[in-house]
Amino acid sequence: MGEAAETVVNCAKCPRPVCNSPAWQEGPENCPLKLVPDVIKRATEKCFSAELREFALKASKQEGSGYMRLPHAPRGPSPVKSRLEEIMEFARRMGYKRLGVAYCSGVQFEASLMVPILENRGFEVVSVACKCGSVPKEELGIEDWEKVWPGRFEAMCHPVAQAEILNHYRTKFNILVCLRVGHDSLFLQYSRAPCTVFAAKDRLFGHAPLLALYQSKSYHRRVLAKESAPDAAKETERWVEQE
Ligand code: SF4
Repeated sequence: MGEAAETVVNCAKCPRPVCNSPAWQEGPENCPLKLVPDVIKRATEKCFSAELREFALKASKQEGSGYMRLPHAPRGPSPVKSRLEEIMEFARRMGYKRLGVAYCSGVQFEASLMVPILENRGFEVVSVACKCGSVPKEELGIEDWEKVWPGRFEAMCHPVAQAEILNHYRTKFNILVCLRVGHDSLFLQYSRAPCTVFAAKDRLFGHAPLLALYQSKSYHRRVLAKESAPDAAKETERWVEQE
């Protein structure tokens, strides 16, 4: 007989999400409050520590300030701030002067719009593109057919260099703009400053990845397949070009 499956926390499948209500003790049996109370207790102590409390407090203040009751919609809070505004306000609350912007070279134009906006609010900005260092992809082990444009020079995305460059300039808060999955992981791993994501890369959906979920029951239903072959499209392209 196999081992019984471990009961884990799975809030996304919660039948009654009561945690933000006065009935917060009435969650399901696998509610984290019931399943891992010690973890929550330790995390709360950590959050209230001298190291984290100010950051957490100001993040919560920023959250609350993002809503207001508008005269024509007084019955509930309406969102009133863009993410860009929230990032600038939070950085100001924290007293950060020098910000880092780590962006994908594919959104050079967007980065060129963002940096002057940040500077206009009084921040010093260090911005660095993912292709910095111009290290050829071949040095990483990428074969020519695996490039975006086979046959051409392609620099590898270099999130570790992006992080180390921003570390070098001692930026206080780093803003990620459209770093690809995996590259963002490396950047987050090596950035010394706390980070926030302005936009997550999703070329198919205009860098709004939630659209993949909203479309998952219609024209993006292919995500419901049990698996996909990550290099299938490239392989097809490769053989077509060789014919
Ligand atoms: S914390 Fe508890 S009540 Fe809230 S969503 Fe998760 S399981 Fe449900």
